[in-house]
Amino acid sequence: MRFRSIIHRRSRSVAGVVATCLATVAGAQSSAPVLRGRVVAANGVSVAGVRVAVRSGLLADTVTVDSAGAFAVPVPPGRGVVEVRAAADSASAAVFYPALGIVRRDEVDDEHGFVLVPRVWAIAAGRYAGQAVEIDLARAFRPACGDCSGFFRFRGGRLTSTRGRTLTWPAQQLPVRVAFDRDREGGPQLGARDSAAFWTAAAALEDALGERLFRASSYPDALPRDETPGDVVLVRADPTLRDAGLTTVVSGEDGISYAAVRFQTPGLFTERGGDVVQHEMLHSVGIGHTCSWRSVMAPAGCPGQRADVATPQDVAHVQLLLRMRALQRDPALRWGMEEALDAAGIARPAAPPTLRQASFRHAIEGPIPAPTRVRIIIPHGT
Ligand SMILES: [Zn+2]
Repeated sequence: MRFRSIIHRRSRSVAGVVATCLATVAGAQSSAPVLRGRVVAANGVSVAGVRVAVRSGLLADTVTVDSAGAFAVPVPPGRGVVEVRAAADSASAAVFYPALGIVRRDEVDDEHGFVLVPRVWAIAAGRYAGQAVEIDLARAFRPACGDCSGFFRFRGGRLTSTRGRTLTWPAQQLPVRVAFDRDREGGPQLGARDSAAFWTAAAALEDALGERLFRASSYPDALPRDETPGDVVLVRADPTLRDAGLTTVVSGEDGISYAAVRFQTPGLFTERGGDVVQHEMLHSVGIGHTCSWRSVMAPAGCPGQRADVATPQDVAHVQLLLRMRALQRDPALRWGMEEALDAAGIARPAAPPTLRQASFRHAIEGPIPAPTRVRIIIPHGT
């Protein structure tokens, strides 16, 4: 008898009834579909002792993963969605966030692997190598203002196709191509000195992260083959901008496919070590604003949190995101950070927008900071 009812047996007479029900369930088990997957940790540590529970209505079953992290659990009968929870045993509960995936009945035959989020990230590379940083997912997803995202961005509801993978570029596109946009009229052309200054600032970000995120591309090489630019970050100067920078990110099911970054003036490339470049280029890989820690991504709404360089908290969270995204190139490792939030009971936005295009627009200097404005643009028809 495998499936266990989560109804507590309160008396002997009731127990007899429950036993009959369970026997019926056990009899149906031979034809029960089996939910399979495996569990890995984003930081590569052992997942020994992690248990996976599959629940349907009032029926549930639990297994402990094998030495490779694999599991196979019969799915209790029922009609609604199936909940799959992966959680460490009590001894290692302080190591990982638990995770909760919601599976439709027609998805049961897919593989349902989890990438567990560690509660502490040991920075292994870059400027802060050797530091250990607490990973606080609630703070990482907390919106930096009333109508904007947090450092990490929700991608949709619990049953949408984009769930499971927090927004950034598909891992195979990194380092992403970056080209100066030569076609725009009205703005100054960025020359060799501007290019050198820009890349010095971008390299400072990469040195902090200990990872190459960007690679230079010529504009002709980056030109789209059809109407839609893809797999490139296009950079240009735009003196008509009211703000220091504006980054627009276009994303689909697989993640970001295109980003456009504008700077009010190339003079920003060298100010304060190029912090505007670091800020905008982190936007271009899907990172939003945060007031949750001292950050190069702090918006004007919390100027006291603003740092001129990526901080250890920034680096740890970006490294976590990129590592998870790399692991999730394996389609069998479906569930990730948002599932950790779900298991923790942290609420998502009531009506998550369809995030296909988002702009980060903000002022980051001047005697009186302009109000932070972040717009989520929802195209017609979506
Ligand atoms: Zn910004």
